[in-house]
Amino acid sequence: MSQDSNLVSAESINLAVSSALSEIDKANDLDELKLIKLNHAGDRSPIALANREIGALQGEAKSEAGKRIGQARSVVKEALDNRMVELQNNREDSILVAEKVDVTQVLANAKSSSLVVGARHPLTTIAEHIADVFIAMGYEIAEGPEAEAEWFNFDSLNISEAHPSRSSSDTFYVESLDSGVVMRTQTSPVQMRAMLERKPPIYVIAPGKVFRTDELDATHTPVFHQVEGLAVDKNLTMADLKGTLDHLAKTMFGEEIETRFRPSYFPFTEPSAELDLKCFVCKGVNKKKNFDCKTCRNEGWIEWGGCGMVNPNVLETAGIDSTRYSGFAFGMGLERTLMFRYGITDMHDLVEADIRFTSNFGLGI
Ligand SMILES: [Zn+2]
Repeated sequence: MSQDSNLVSAESINLAVSSALSEIDKANDLDELKLIKLNHAGDRSPIALANREIGALQGEAKSEAGKRIGQARSVVKEALDNRMVELQNNREDSILVAEKVDVTQVLANAKSSSLVVGARHPLTTIAEHIADVFIAMGYEIAEGPEAEAEWFNFDSLNISEAHPSRSSSDTFYVESLDSGVVMRTQTSPVQMRAMLERKPPIYVIAPGKVFRTDELDATHTPVFHQVEGLAVDKNLTMADLKGTLDHLAKTMFGEEIETRFRPSYFPFTEPSAELDLKCFVCKGVNKKKNFDCKTCRNEGWIEWGGCGMVNPNVLETAGIDSTRYSGFAFGMGLERTLMFRYGITDMHDLVEADIRFTSNFGLGI
């Protein structure tokens, strides 16, 4: 124990302090100082080890050693603090110098042919294009969170607790599983939010990211984009819905495009329909022999989205009197729309962020 008790001697403590101060003074940067702090003020530093020996001392020796070590600690701590402030200031100064922007340099680069001009991603431009079509008809853009309350994503939309889409094999749940928060599987919760925030008449369009547990392949991706529309007003009918979607289809695919409704089922609309486009490759005349249309798989039509009249249960959930108001809603995938519009055959092209792909779409706004 004699060796250990030496640790608390005035000589040992003075030596520990002077060696700490000297190293602190020489520290060149914050990383070095961190190491020095560990060596001289950490749990295994000479001063800390000395501190542990105090318990074994008695009487005056104990109180003197305690005082000595306490003073030594505060001297070292103060030196560390001061040096840290100095080094932080030095670092900030050097960052300001290193990151200085020479604004005249930009002009010099612009003259050079090596300047790479990027392009906006076609998903962004198509989402804006669709939003513009609806803004021109008096709609407003509505937004909602991507991490969404399960209630908004499912329950409020008349989707029962037993519905298979709610299982964690289809839906990403935010930890923990009983948190009641999911990565939204559709943009429809934005419709419910829009109805709760507004009074009819309501005309909103909601483009955004949605999430499902699909593997990435040629036609699927776990993160994709939808655009969804909702109208709530007096006397709205399926005819208004059809006219609205025909207009959208024409702005997307040209005046020649034909659409049809095919009866379907969704919990949040009644009646519900799938929206099909007449195949623009074979023009629906695929029945001819010797022509195999890969785009529509010889169906003559391709599925574009889903739609229908808003289920009165959903209107009532949003506090809207379903005897006075009716509504229609529709939604479609943006990736799918983009693939149809430009003949893109592989989803990978849309998610891999290859500038050679996006540049093909130019700087369209
Ligand atoms: Zn076809």
